[in-house]
Amino acid sequence: MATVMYRSTRGDSRLVSAAEAIVSGIAADGGLYVPTELPRLTVPPAELAALSYQDLAGQIMSLFLPDFTAAELAAAVQQAYDDKFDTPLIAPLVTHGEVHFLELFHGPTLAFKDMALSILPYLLRLAAEKCGLQEEVVILTATSGDTGKAALEGFADVAGTKIIVFFPEHGVSPVQKRQMVTQTGANTHVVGIEGNFDDAQSGVKAMFTDAQLRRQLQQAGYVFSSANSINVGRLIPQIVYYYSAYLQLVNQGKLQAGQPVNFVVPTGNFGNILAAYYARQLGLPVHKLICASNANKVLFDFFTTGIYDKERPFFVTMSPSMDILVSSNLERLLYHASNEDTAWVKAQMENLGRQGHYRVPETVRAAMSDFVGGYATEEATAKAINSVYRQSGYLIDPHTAVAYAVLQDYLSVSGDTTPTVVVATASPFKFAKDVLEAVAGPQSSEDEFALLFELAAVTGQPVPAAIADLQTKPVLHRTVCKKDDMRRVAAEILQLV
Ligand SMILES: *Cc1c(COP(=O)(O)O)cnc(C)c1O
Repeated sequence: MATVMYRSTRGDSRLVSAAEAIVSGIAADGGLYVPTELPRLTVPPAELAALSYQDLAGQIMSLFLPDFTAAELAAAVQQAYDDKFDTPLIAPLVTHGEVHFLELFHGPTLAFKDMALSILPYLLRLAAEKCGLQEEVVILTATSGDTGKAALEGFADVAGTKIIVFFPEHGVSPVQKRQMVTQTGANTHVVGIEGNFDDAQSGVKAMFTDAQLRRQLQQAGYVFSSANSINVGRLIPQIVYYYSAYLQLVNQGKLQAGQPVNFVVPTGNFGNILAAYYARQLGLPVHKLICASNANKVLFDFFTTGIYDKERPFFVTMSPSMDILVSSNLERLLYHASNEDTAWVKAQMENLGRQGHYRVPETVRAAMSDFVGGYATEEATAKAINSVYRQSGYLIDPHTAVAYAVLQDYLSVSGDTTPTVVVATASPFKFAKDVLEAVAGPQSSEDEFALLFELAAVTGQPVPAAIADLQTKPVLHRTVCKKDDMRRVAAEILQLV
């Protein structure tokens, strides 16, 4: 088999190793790294079904990371997927009614970002070694709420790294914010910005491609890398749980090996669902990939019209990790769906930057026909939380509820009878007020932390240990800046001259 290398979606023709792609985070031309070929997983399902999550992860990741040895990957997965997760299954699949839920929130920060960010520090350290990197790695991260904490947790006190997280000061949930600003670790820095996630993300992207900043960094002995899903080191570990979901369904006797499934993925930056697409390319029998958006339904409009238009009102919703108008990883899908036409992808990204929109031709739309878009309003989201709880006593968070609501709409219009997995991306306790109001009606209290315990009392389910003591932890990070000052704040943190 030819070795998988990585190239930029925007045409920079230099091929880099997986290690180099992980260390750089983003290509020098602003494009995203994509594998030069999509590998196939040829191991028979019966054999895969017997593997632990860790061994499955080792097998799948080795296909995309040929420059990492099996022993290196085995050590990384053992350290990443250990008792930081509150279940040995790591990503358990549960069934309520007709719907399967893949629970990706059993890690230390109670959201699916832990699935990749608990292993990224190990991959990055190995990658830095392979690239002979002398410099200290600065992880620069924009977050819509969950990535930030998961990355901080993963990189705190990791030797040879510093991490700077930018989050929208008024665009994350109180629990998400508290999780970040109480982060310990001398190498961690957390900055609120006066702006939304898209502002944070474009500010970070601009720093990556700022030649002057790069020179200053180099002089100071640093290089930037990213913990956002623009980094292939984030995407690759996410492929694993789609396989795991499938194999659990087979092991539980709910699916015949070889039978197709659908996945409904609550989507923001398009990283999670893109990993499902890569799982399908590996050979996983997937029928439809259902892309669920909240009121910020730019992806729904894209999949239904072929036009991506970010010029629209931005809504702060109860599913803040999906409050995104520029879904970065869609660029990777455009690359694959356009038959790797990098000049065309580059032109569309320029159109998006200049005019705020682009349109894809029919041929490209046809190549994306496995995707279905849907969206849920705030009202439909709350209703979904309520109806799942009433029907089965199962509590879902607002992001998962968006996916559930979109699935119900999809089923009623398509009549599709394919078994379907809803990807459950966060613990309902991360969003206690909205979840409690959905199941028990309006609450007069605005105190998110009191409401955590109220939610536990009403539902009889315990507050997860990871957030039970959050309120009493000291706030260690207080910096807030304007969106145009992100570069200056980063330079100050790194003491660049
Ligand atoms: C990040 C996140 C999402 C969106 O995932 P993308 O990979 O950005 O599409 C959905 N739900 C939760 C809880 C998240 O943290």
